Amino acid sequence: MKYFLDTEFVEDGETIMPISLALVREDGRELYLEFEFDEDKAVAHDFVRENVLPHLRGQEQYTRDEAARRISMFMGLGPRHPAESKPNIEVWAYFADYDWVLFCQVFGTMRDLPKGCPRYCMDLMQWWTQLGYPRGVKPPKPVKAHDALADADWNHEFYKNLSNYVEYDASLDESETEQWLTDFRTLDELDPARAKRLVEDWKSRLQGHGVEPPERDYEDFAAYALAVRNALADFLGKSGL
Ligand SMILES: [Mg+2]
Repeated sequence: MKYFLDTEFVEDGETIMPISLALVREDGRELYLEFEFDEDKAVAHDFVRENVLPHLRGQEQYTRDEAARRISMFMGLGPRHPAESKPNIEVWAYFADYDWVLFCQVFGTMRDLPKGCPRYCMDLMQWWTQLGYPRGVKPPKPVKAHDALADADWNHEFYKNLSNYVEYDASLDESETEQWLTDFRTLDELDPARAKRLVEDWKSRLQGHGVEPPERDYEDFAAYALAVRNALADFLGKSGL
C-alpha cells in the first residue's frame, strides 16, 4: 500500500517542530493531524506565519505520542504485524527529506519506528528528475498549497501522473521515434495523444542535450511538431527534410 505524506513545520537549522501532518492512501483514505506546537515560534517565522498557519483547522492538537498512535492505526503498523506478514508499505513525499525526519521523530528515535514501517521515504522529486523533468506531468499547485492535506493529495496526483507517463513511455516504440526522425510523415497518421507525446519526447531529448526546443506555435501543432522534429534531427545529424 502506498501512502502520500506531507507535513508542515518550523525548522531552524537544528530542530524540526511539527505543526501538521497528512497521509493520503492510494485508495483515497486520508489522515490529517495537527500537533501541539510553540505558537510564538511559528508566528515569528515569516514563511510559516504567511503560508502555513492560515490553513490550520483549529482542531484538537495532538502530542507526538497521540499522533504516533493515530498514524500507526491508520497505516496498520505495530506489534500486531509479525515479521512474516509485512504490510509492504511505501511512503511517498515531495522534497521528502524534512518530512521524513519529522515523520520518524513523531515516533521518537530512529530505532523507535514501529514494526512494518519502511525505514526510508520515496521522493517524487527524485523520480521526476530521473525521468528528465518531463513536462505536463507535474500537476498545478494546489489552491491551498502548504495545507498538509492539500499537499499530500497533490503528491498522490503527481505520483499517478508519473506512473502514467512511465507506462506511456514504455509503449513508445523506440524504432518509431527513429523512423519519425528520418522519415517524417504527416502527424494525422498518429492519434493526437500519441503525436503530442512524441513531440514531448523530442523536446525532452533536445533539452537533455541542453538545447532549447523551438517556441510553441499554438496555431498550428503540425508545424510546431515539424520544427521540433527538425531541430532534433539537425542536432543529431540525421537527414532532414
Ligand atoms: Mg506542504
